[in-house]
Amino acid sequence: MGDWMLKQNSKNSRLKKFFSSLLVVVVELGLMVAATAAFITAFDYVDTKHVENTVPRSSANSQVPSQASQNSENPAGAPASAPVSSALPHPLRDWKLTLVNYDNKMPDKFQNVIVHAYNVDLDSRIVEPYRQMHDAAQKDGISIWLSSGYRSPEKQQMLFEQEIQNYVKTGLDYVEALAKAETSVARADYSEHNTGLAVDLNGVLENFGGTPASNWLQKHAPDYGFILRYPADKQDITKIKYEPWHYRYVGIENAKKMNELHLCLEEYVDYLKKNQTTGD
Ligand SMILES: [Zn+2]
Repeated sequence: MGDWMLKQNSKNSRLKKFFSSLLVVVVELGLMVAATAAFITAFDYVDTKHVENTVPRSSANSQVPSQASQNSENPAGAPASAPVSSALPHPLRDWKLTLVNYDNKMPDKFQNVIVHAYNVDLDSRIVEPYRQMHDAAQKDGISIWLSSGYRSPEKQQMLFEQEIQNYVKTGLDYVEALAKAETSVARADYSEHNTGLAVDLNGVLENFGGTPASNWLQKHAPDYGFILRYPADKQDITKIKYEPWHYRYVGIENAKKMNELHLCLEEYVDYLKKNQTTGD
């Protein structure tokens, strides 16, 4: 019995020794992984800074978890084993530049919090910029107001079908009506209004262009991060007819840069991609 206990005890202590040395190995491995991760993170940081300094843009909120528009990876949560994703160009990581158009569906990963403000629904992140723009306009004696903000895909689809019917009523056949409708109302998930980052102002009026409010917006909206999304001279690129009432939030720096370079969002995203991938 005693021998058995002794045997068991020495067996137990051998086991204990084995497990404690195993623990040491595991802890050491853990430290090595952590050190590698720290090194890669530090390297990424430097690399990101480098990209930001060499390209003509940087966003005020680039730290915000991004919902990339087209990339399939998630750079924000990328583990140390995938440092390549951190070199993705900014347009793919900046939620403010999310491109939703005839060609680009609303990204599945796009995350927003929709809130009710100024009688419409908006992405919570643009409420304050809008408020500032609205108040600045008011100080200049200009009244701007929101007709529309966020729209659910269901609502968007309903509007699209209504638009087709409107054209059918004018005498067009269904195929013609559909083609026409596509230039004025986007299909569900292909409308910027599904992001909550787009706003329609002052009643969606064809003759809004040239009014004092429109002129004020053209001049000052970029100061608050908004751009005229479908300008008259970019219709062949946006594939949307001139909409003087439709503004889109892209952030102040992007908006100013787009204005300066006279680029619409499609062109600007392209421009950033080209300029930011050359160094990779
Ligand atoms: Zn609109």
